Amino acid sequence: MKGYRYLDGVATLRLDAEACIGCGMCAAVCPHRVLVVRERKAEIIDFNACMECGACAKNCPVDAVTVTPGVGCASYLMAVWLSKITGKKTESACC
Ligand code: SF4
Ligand code: SF4
Repeated sequence: MKGYRYLDGVATLRLDAEACIGCGMCAAVCPHRVLVVRERKAEIIDFNACMECGACAKNCPVDAVTVTPGVGCASYLMAVWLSKITGKKTESACC
C-alpha cells in the first residue's frame, strides 16, 4: 500500500495526545503507516494516507485515537455528486 494517497484533508482521524499512553498499538496495526510513537506519544505523520479503516481506534486502549470508519473517497465523491443533483449541501467531508 506504499504510495497510497487519500483526498487531502478529509480524513476523520483525530488524535488526543494528552490521553495517549504510548502503547504503540495504533502504529502497529495501521496499514498505511499514518502513525508513529515517539517518546511514548503517538503522532500522525501522514494524515492524508489514512483510509479510515478504523483499526487504530479499535485497538487503542484509552480511546486517544478516533476515526469514523467509512468507505473513504467513494462515499465522499458520491455525496458531492448527489449535492450537485439535489442542490443540498453535503453533510460531511467524508463517510
Ligand atoms: S484509520 Fe486505518 S489507515 Fe487511518 S490511521 Fe487508523 S489504522 Fe491507519
Ligand atoms: S493505541 Fe492509543 S494509547 Fe496506544 S499509542 Fe496509539 S493513541 Fe497512544
